[in-house]
Amino acid sequence: MQITGDMLIGASEVRGTKGTLRAFDPARNMEIEPEFGAGGTIEVDRACALAAMAFDSYRQTSLEVRAHFLETIAENILGLGDTLVDRAQAESALPKARLEGERARTVGQLKLFASLVREGRWLTATLDSAQPDRKPLPRPDLRLQKIPVGPVGVFGASNFPLAFSVAGGDTASALAAGCPVVVKAHPAHLGTSELVGRAIQKAVADCGLHEGVFSLVIGAGNEIGEALVQHPAIKSVGFTGSRAGGLALVNLAQKRREPIPVFAEMSSINPFFVLPGALAKRAEQIATGFIESVTLGVGQFCTNPGLVLVLDGPNKQTFIDAAAKALSQKSSQTMLTPGIANAYQGGITHRTEQRGVQTIARGTSSDATCAALPALFQTSAIQFLTSAELEDEIFGPTSLIVTCADVDEMIKVAEYLEGQLTATLQIEPEDHDIARRLLVTLERKAGRILANSFPTGVEVSYAMVHGGPFPATSDSRATSVGAMAIERFLRPVCYQDLPADLLPQSLRDDNPLKLWRLRDGKPVQA
Ligand code: NAP
Repeated sequence: MQITGDMLIGASEVRGTKGTLRAFDPARNMEIEPEFGAGGTIEVDRACALAAMAFDSYRQTSLEVRAHFLETIAENILGLGDTLVDRAQAESALPKARLEGERARTVGQLKLFASLVREGRWLTATLDSAQPDRKPLPRPDLRLQKIPVGPVGVFGASNFPLAFSVAGGDTASALAAGCPVVVKAHPAHLGTSELVGRAIQKAVADCGLHEGVFSLVIGAGNEIGEALVQHPAIKSVGFTGSRAGGLALVNLAQKRREPIPVFAEMSSINPFFVLPGALAKRAEQIATGFIESVTLGVGQFCTNPGLVLVLDGPNKQTFIDAAAKALSQKSSQTMLTPGIANAYQGGITHRTEQRGVQTIARGTSSDATCAALPALFQTSAIQFLTSAELEDEIFGPTSLIVTCADVDEMIKVAEYLEGQLTATLQIEPEDHDIARRLLVTLERKAGRILANSFPTGVEVSYAMVHGGPFPATSDSRATSVGAMAIERFLRPVCYQDLPADLLPQSLRDDNPLKLWRLRDGKPVQA
């Protein structure tokens, strides 16, 4: 399939006329063909107006049609073959095997949402029978189902050009809910975005849906993203990226005449607690696994363990020495974009110069362009608790080891931390009492708590939570990965005393969809 540099607005290919953009190959340090036309508010308006027009027909499609649509997107993405993976590799410098895995994940999550849609439990169909004889007042017939909120704006993430981008988790869950989607392409992977956008555009046509169900807009600078968030037709937004970008969009959405939610996944340093029993038994093993996790994908994961907490004592030094040795064997590698590489370099330089922080290892230099040299730092809990900057995320292959004098100090640091996507405990049975104390705090701080593993790697499943209190996300009640992500784009509607022939199928007495429903407080498939 040819990449043309056009936007995809409904069924049309539209050439932006507000300047030009080019994708960049960070590994070869050069721009890539073709030239993309940048769009602006006119194209956003057209895409959003089409999405609004598509909303009612799309949300009323049968569960089967919607599930089949999601599966068709998955098939069309696979149909792009190596063209997609090769382009994503050129635009991101991520290894081919990683991108093939990411494609499988993208396809897998579309299929997960297809089966979720078919099964229909997300409708939350709930029936409270009328009680005409109830005293002192009769109870009406009440029936509830969830419906989609309306068109959703999606901002793809730079670090997952497939799984968190044009057909990623935000788009898949919004389309599953019944919401048309307008995606703002990430400038770091414009060609990948167009290819995947065309796969979705074709699926819309293949399935005979309204063309406004999907659009892809491209633009330079903030104008196009701001226009998308501010457009009255957009009722919710999914975003993954920087804290500054996410907050700017949250604020913009709150200032609208009709404020809307922005589900922004932003910043997390993913604390990693090595408790004393685990430190005594497995210091070296934990240290090498931890460095693999820190440097995986050049550290460009939102779940990267950027903070390690250990107790003082001889085993701490074994851990630090093993971690330093493992990190020093890692070479510098190309990051996703020159901007992200510069931000990493700036963060590392700043941390190196911070009072009370020691550099304990650096990786090996290579001739890679736009590269990040891994770095490991250490400090004391007292220093950490008094230097707010030490809690800032440095996006890339680096981490900070914090030594705590005792368990109370470790809990104090946990209590001090901002919200996180994950918190990891390395524990042995003899650590369980300390773990129990820490968990009271960590449940309040993190969306996912792990034991004896590493936080990088996020399963797409029913029980996954990829979310957490601010600044991990802008709304701790939601997840952006896994089946529950659909909840972000739904709202409940109650039907009181509606005549039977006006009720939606999900709430009819004869239950034609064979849904599991809550009937007078009891789950039944009737
Ligand atoms: P970003 O700068 O926040 O950009 C993400 C998307 O939002 C881009 O499409 C960007 O468009 C748009 N955007 C950002 N600020 C905006 C604003 N004020 N108004 C309108 N649109 C806006 O994130 P990034 O480019 O992916 O990476 C930059 C940094 O984000 C990294 O160095 C890292 O610190 C962090 N990051 C975090 C995660 C995570 O999972 N937590 C993931 C990736 C990156 P334009 O670029 O066209 O403005």
